Amino acid sequence: MNSKIKNQKEIVRIIGKLKKQGKIIVACNGSFDILHVGHIRVLKEAKNQGDFLIVMLNSDESVRSYKGPKRPIICQKERAEILSALECIDFIVIFDEITPKEILKKIKPDIYCHDLDWGKDFIERETIKQNKGRVYFFKSHANSSTSQLVQKILEVYSTPEIKAVFLDRDGTININKPEYVNKIKDFKFASGVIPALQKLSKTGYKIIIATDQSGVGRGYFKENDLKKLHQWMLRELKKKGIRIDKIYYCPHQAKDNCSCRKPKIGMVLKAVKDFGINLSKSWIVGDDERDIIVGREANIKTIKIGGKMSKNLNLESNYYVKNLLGAVKIILS
Ligand SMILES: [Mg+2]
Ligand SMILES: [Zn+2]
Repeated sequence: MNSKIKNQKEIVRIIGKLKKQGKIIVACNGSFDILHVGHIRVLKEAKNQGDFLIVMLNSDESVRSYKGPKRPIICQKERAEILSALECIDFIVIFDEITPKEILKKIKPDIYCHDLDWGKDFIERETIKQNKGRVYFFKSHANSSTSQLVQKILEVYSTPEIKAVFLDRDGTININKPEYVNKIKDFKFASGVIPALQKLSKTGYKIIIATDQSGVGRGYFKENDLKKLHQWMLRELKKKGIRIDKIYYCPHQAKDNCSCRKPKIGMVLKAVKDFGINLSKSWIVGDDERDIIVGREANIKTIKIGGKMSKNLNLESNYYVKNLLGAVKIILS
């Protein structure tokens, strides 16, 4: 049993002792359903008014009777346990009525802290007066209220999550060549790519190509040639009913130490920014070990086309397949 959580009898006895020692007893009440920073601020403020802070916690029955049958979200046992972990709270006592009027008659705090939002004429006021206590009105506002928090959560989760499939280009979409592929005549779609992308285009996945094209940085071809090749590729794919949402490319060489060249994850982060993608629901497919490292670094599920990873990397891909069609089958299964 948590030593801060007391029943009403125990708390009356404890307060009696503390008062004899000349301690100032502060009390406040609330349901504290889903604790937030506004709660913490008022609780700290309450504690600063005296020596001991007692939180009178509305029971589940109490919360239901004034907020309806759907509240509280968190049960009283857990709410009490959470509060008991806070340094500023000394004791917690649970009550069943809508207002703490009855329990206040028993514990008779020196100071009762209340929210001014409810006005100065609240129902417990007379009880406090009769017991020679005084009322303190909170200066801080618990304005980031639980209801607002719940509303925000609902908004976030009511829109579908955006997932993506990140695709490497050379060796994944087109057949790779030892020399750079930068001309239309050299660009050949790899086996299974067209049916794979047709299938993927019918899903909600964003289809994003992320490709290293250091041939630009090395001066082997112009950035404009790369763009022209990509425009041609997109047109060819579109004719076959394939949607590519975006192509990101890194034109740099390794020595440039940019943040986009794989295995760095700059292109993935750019896509997250542009599309609002949830990476943990996304996939990356590539034929190079660096594609798989990107996936592991960015918490994306990985599918490697072709051979296994080198042993010395100590890193495995989640899946291994022959071609993009095999990858898409895994993604859609
Ligand atoms: Mg590749
Ligand atoms: Zn780069």
